[in-house]
Amino acid sequence: MRTTLVGAAAVALSACALTAAPTQAATITTSGTGWKLVTQLGVTSISPSRQYTITFATAAMKTRYTPLLAPAVAQMKAAGVKIAIGGVETVNPSKCGPVGHIQITEIYRPLGRAGFSQGMPCPNPAKGVGVGGIVAIDSEYWTGYPIELYKLRNTLVHEPLHALGLDHPNALDKDGKSIDYKCVATSSGNTPIMCSPNGGYKMATNMGKLTGYDLNGLKALLANARAQGIK
Ligand SMILES: [Zn+2]
Repeated sequence: MRTTLVGAAAVALSACALTAAPTQAATITTSGTGWKLVTQLGVTSISPSRQYTITFATAAMKTRYTPLLAPAVAQMKAAGVKIAIGGVETVNPSKCGPVGHIQITEIYRPLGRAGFSQGMPCPNPAKGVGVGGIVAIDSEYWTGYPIELYKLRNTLVHEPLHALGLDHPNALDKDGKSIDYKCVATSSGNTPIMCSPNGGYKMATNMGKLTGYDLNGLKALLANARAQGIK
């Protein structure tokens, strides 16, 4: 606005600012068809070179969850995320663990609601680069709670994906509140595994796997890192 008064130098400066701002904004994408990032907790990327490791609070949990997570972890690796299933360590659900760890534990109704589990990334990591997070699986799944197998399998993958930085891609109502189950779907009716309260494949062969929508979300997290020069 002062360019008219001070002349060419200021014009050049302001032109610079004008071109820089949109370019920078364009480098980060926080939502797309069927995926959304957990920007409200400050996560906009995952490091392409950082090792992410899923760990468990007990040896019994490691035994229980490893085979159920394996197909999804293979997909995440194929998408470019350096992620592996690790070992057992102490998990304090109210405190983030070591950098890169996605810690899984079990709690009875962690959200206070029957059948609901919880997953979240460690909030506000430096430069928005995800450092892992905490997953609390509702322990009642294993004590007779009536949950269909595909919902269980999909939930066990949905929660660690929250810890990596994916949010629910649900449509919002006029008050901005997420509408249950209201998500984009493939022609065969499959919603993203990140759809809330649950989504993903229902067929036995594919349950517990990420859909293309979810993989696009992970790829966006990696692309956002690369666009910012984050290794
Ligand atoms: Zn969720």
